[in-house]
Formats: sequence, structure tokens, C-alpha cells
Amino acid sequence: MPHTTDLHRRLLTLDAHLDTPVHFSREGWHFNERHGLETDVAQLDMPRMAGNLSGGFFVIYTPQGPLTDDAYAAALASARQRSREIDETLALFPDHIGAATAAADAVRLHGQGKLVAFKSIENSYPIGEDLGLLAEFHAQGVRMAGPVHIRANQLADSSTDAPRWNGLSPLGEGWVAEMNRLGMVIDASHASDEAFDQMLEASRAPLILSHSGTRGYFNHPRNLDDGRIRALAAKGGVIGFTTIYLSAMHMVPERASLFHTMGHIGDLPIAEQTDLARRWNALDDTAPMWSADFEDYIRALLHTINVAGVEHVCFGADWDGGGGVAGLRDVTGLPRVTERLLAAGFSPDDLEKMWSGNLLRVLSDAAGREL
Ligand SMILES: [Zn+2]
Repeated sequence: MPHTTDLHRRLLTLDAHLDTPVHFSREGWHFNERHGLETDVAQLDMPRMAGNLSGGFFVIYTPQGPLTDDAYAAALASARQRSREIDETLALFPDHIGAATAAADAVRLHGQGKLVAFKSIENSYPIGEDLGLLAEFHAQGVRMAGPVHIRANQLADSSTDAPRWNGLSPLGEGWVAEMNRLGMVIDASHASDEAFDQMLEASRAPLILSHSGTRGYFNHPRNLDDGRIRALAAKGGVIGFTTIYLSAMHMVPERASLFHTMGHIGDLPIAEQTDLARRWNALDDTAPMWSADFEDYIRALLHTINVAGVEHVCFGADWDGGGGVAGLRDVTGLPRVTERLLAAGFSPDDLEKMWSGNLLRVLSDAAGREL
């Protein structure tokens, strides 16, 4: 058996959902500098990724707002800006990281010793009622999108909100067809059970859950029941196993307030960013958001692999979006996941599938291309 660290370092390791672009516009924050959780909140940057995480899908996230033309226009403007910020950040470091839109790009970049950056959309709210805008984001390199976030919107019901459509809206059905036509991966994380069922039924390509867990381990609406995980796998899909909702979320009022501020961290002066980090990290000691720790994470991961199968699991920790548990606070802990999976009897080939092969297969399936 190869030395774990060597194996982990050699593997192409991808995460299906990186919220890190929220940090890209921060004054004084640089993706090529190493940040520590003692003084900062970001859970990854290029120095910490090196040898620990080869890359993944960098998210264009938009909070849910009102379903009005004015609000759609404002959301679209901010999503376009976030997409540009990702491009501009990558362009600063061409020797160290590259943009990817297909499986072959990821393999090539990794072979060149570079990090890999795909783009995805969390919450398709910014397209309003114009499905044609998906083609614009596709042209900007986006290859994965989810319809909805924590509230029902014009496209679909959310797993954490009262139903508005009993699944997908008529517009949401058109969204699925347009995603298929463009060859983009449909991400069902955050969608309600009914919306998941309808997307699974309607989509011509396998689905991904970019950052979700299983109700068989912890019963929460954001997780899927084991039957749905099996149905996802039966159609070739993949679950990006996450670090969130392995336990109840402890959202004390101060954390809720900081969470809100975190969404706008890119607009804060440096002193306020530092204050946010200090208060956020202090709360990790006194009132952690999750009571689950690394051992719980491993138990839940093994359960998920058992249910879905080795061919249908990838990783989507929700880094920089509320993810991380005690013992796995940032990406530097990831080699320990490989170590534990090897110890549990999985082969290096299994590890390769779970760390990137399955994710890239779903990407290629959606695009209608062979890997
Ligand atoms: Zn999310």
C-alpha cells in the first residue's frame, strides 16, 4: 500500500462545491497567500490546497430575494460580477491554477501540477424568468447549476421552505430541459424531495448533489433519505458528501448575524473583516455551529458510501459555506480522509473514483462526451 500522503497528493482531488469566491473581492485578501483559521475565516486558498485538494467547482452563489423584475435584475448583476471575479482571480495565477470546463481539462491541469477551477451556480434565481441566460453563464464557463437555495423561488421548492410548487414550477421544468440541452450538470442540493424526484425523472443526464448528506445518518430536510440516494445512483448520479447536517445546526443569534455579514465580507474594510474572523472563530470554541466531529464525519461518509456505492460518491464539504467540523476545519485535514478510507478497506482505485472520477464522469455524461 502506498504511503497515504503520497497517494493523496498524487490523486486528482476535487470538491463539488467551493463557496470560496465570496472571499475573492475582499480588500487585502489574496488567494495565493496562506491564511490560518486563527486570524481568518477562509477554509482554503492556493497554498493550503497544494497537496490537499486539487480543485473543484467554485460557486457563483446568490442569496434568495423577492421574485420581482427589479430584484432579478440586481441578482443577475451580482451573479455576473461574481463570475467575473472568479475569472479575474484565476487570471492572476496562470502558473498555479487554471480554468476547467471539461473532465479532460482537470486531468491536464493536474498533470501540469496546477490546481483546477470549474465554475458552478448555487441558486438559479438570478436568471429570473429568462432561461436564455443559462447559455450566457455556460459561455462564461459554468458547467453546473442548482435551481434553488434555502427558500422556494421561481423555479423550484426548497428543502428548507414551505412548498410553493410541489416540486418544480413550469419554468423549472423548462430549466431542466435547458440545462440538459446546454450539457450542464444539474445540482439537486437544496431542492425539496419533490423537486429532486421531478428532476431525476425529467433529466436526460445524471444528477449531482454537490453538497448533501443522508437522512439515514442524520435526519434533516437538507439530507436525502437512503431510498432517494439509491435512486440517484441507479441513474448514474453522484452525491458530494458534505460536512454539514451531520448533527443539528446550532445557530445562536451572534452566529446568525455573523453568517449574514459573511455573505458580504467582500465589501468590508480590512479591520471589519478581521473582527468578523475573530468573533466567528471565538464562537467555534464557545458555541460551535455543529456538534459533529471528524469521527462522526467518517461514520456518516462510510454510511453514504455503503448506500450509494463507490461509483456514486464524491466530496462537497461546503467549504466557506458553513462546512467544516472539529478535526476537519479546513482543507489541510483532507489527507486524513484518504487515510481513513484506506484503513476501512477501500483501494487506491476506489479513492480515485470518489475523489474525482465519479464527479468527472457525471460532468462528461451531462456534456454528452466520453471522459
Ligand atoms: Zn449550499
